[in-house]
Amino acid sequence: MKVLLANPRGFCAGVNMAIECLEECIREFGTNIFVYHEIVHNRYVVEKFSSQGVKFVNHLSEVPAGSILLYSAHGVSPEIRAEARQRDLRTIDATCPLVTKVHLEAIKYAKANYNIILIGHDGHDEVIGTMGEAPESITLVETPDDVDQLSFSQDDSLVYLTQTTLSVEEANLVIERLKQRYPNIESPPKEDICYATTNRQHAVKQLIQQADLLLVLGSQNSSNSKRLMEIGLAEGKQAYLIDGKDELQPEWFETVETVMITAGASAPEVVVQDCLNHLKEEYGATIEEITTREENVTFPLPKELRQLQSLRE
Ligand code: SF4
Repeated sequence: MKVLLANPRGFCAGVNMAIECLEECIREFGTNIFVYHEIVHNRYVVEKFSSQGVKFVNHLSEVPAGSILLYSAHGVSPEIRAEARQRDLRTIDATCPLVTKVHLEAIKYAKANYNIILIGHDGHDEVIGTMGEAPESITLVETPDDVDQLSFSQDDSLVYLTQTTLSVEEANLVIERLKQRYPNIESPPKEDICYATTNRQHAVKQLIQQADLLLVLGSQNSSNSKRLMEIGLAEGKQAYLIDGKDELQPEWFETVETVMITAGASAPEVVVQDCLNHLKEEYGATIEEITTREENVTFPLPKELRQLQSLRE
């Protein structure tokens, strides 16, 4: 068996920053720390921090007044920020700057009285946060069919924004339909689908034809990981999204010569390496890593972390 190992894969700059931020908080303040929602959408990462004592909450009512609360990489709405202030929580914002960029665009266009069409997945943490910035001005669409249901006129001021982790191709189908119906609709100043999402999808598209089967390391609730698996399926390949090697099924490999492996932006390298070791031990796999694009993006830790640290000094 041969394994084609995609590069880039796994952690993006936003996820790296959020995890480093939480690790730094633990070093500085101990594990009595609360995180609003999963710090990143990955079971391994969340279970690791939970086992250390970090508490992930879905409601701020679960957080005692005065506690330290981290906002996850996916961002939060202004309503949550206001509630946290009211509860006197010491907040640290680990929102990815590329998600914040979409929030700021939403605020800017809402102030300028645009109707904003947000392309994204209903119920995703990032979409909830972005919509919360200007709920009166934002309409969510997921598919080209949703665009057909819109009731704006040609004269309305319209702009579209997108969730950062969409399938580039699927988003383009929605954008095309928007432009057909509303030729004057404006685009975001810079692409909203982030570099990490785009690069990981590009790698799968480049390499998948050389493989019989695609394994994507990532959790089921990770939007960008799911999109990677869907690309494999759309190319007519067997494709599975798995959290780790324990989910591998021997029957997947019965007639397979080449396996492609990648990982979503929230999946740690350790789960990739575990899989590779398993395939080497069980099937004598040889590994070929192929780089389709170089990545060198990094984000600084949130300023609130430095402020809280300086209060302790
Ligand atoms: S996937 Fe993109 S937007 Fe999401 S955390 Fe990573 S870099 Fe930021």
